[in-house]
Amino acid sequence: MRFLIVFIIPFVVACNAQQMPNKTSEVKTAQEALSKVLFQGKTELEFVEKSEDVWQSELSEMAFYVIREKGTERAFTGQYWDNKEAGLYTCAACGLALFDSKTKYKSGTGWPSYYEPLHESYIREDTDYHLGYARTEVMCNRCGGHLGHVFPDGPDPTGLRYCINSVSLDFIPEEKREAYLKEYK
Ligand SMILES: [Zn+2]
Repeated sequence: MRFLIVFIIPFVVACNAQQMPNKTSEVKTAQEALSKVLFQGKTELEFVEKSEDVWQSELSEMAFYVIREKGTERAFTGQYWDNKEAGLYTCAACGLALFDSKTKYKSGTGWPSYYEPLHESYIREDTDYHLGYARTEVMCNRCGGHLGHVFPDGPDPTGLRYCINSVSLDFIPEEKREAYLKEYK
């Protein structure tokens, strides 16, 4: 009996331990490969700066309101809250890849939700008191465009919920990922 317990416990632990790291490491590998391409050996992003007039001429009225004026689209109205396709989500203003569909999950909020960005340095954070209490605003770190907020009620493995406006994002389907990365070079 003692032999059985000694044998079974490590086996159960090993099986449980194997599942999460596999999924996480798959995402991590994809993230590392992608950030290698995007950074191209550089350690920092090249920031995109444009006047508000230029942004206004380039973005739709709704995109300008959300991205440059820190607005919020109504829940369940955006293009991507229920998108289940595999691919990359990029900044609608500057094109930087921000989220992988592998980290998207059903939050029930009506906004696309992810448990982590592609790379932590792609996201800029600030404290937002717009509703009278502190929330953490998230922005694209390359162009400063408003994306949404991050909350500490997300799923494993990070426990975070990046609650993002659809209109702040563009979607690159999986089959166009390679073409996008080539173009990005
Ligand atoms: Zn951007």
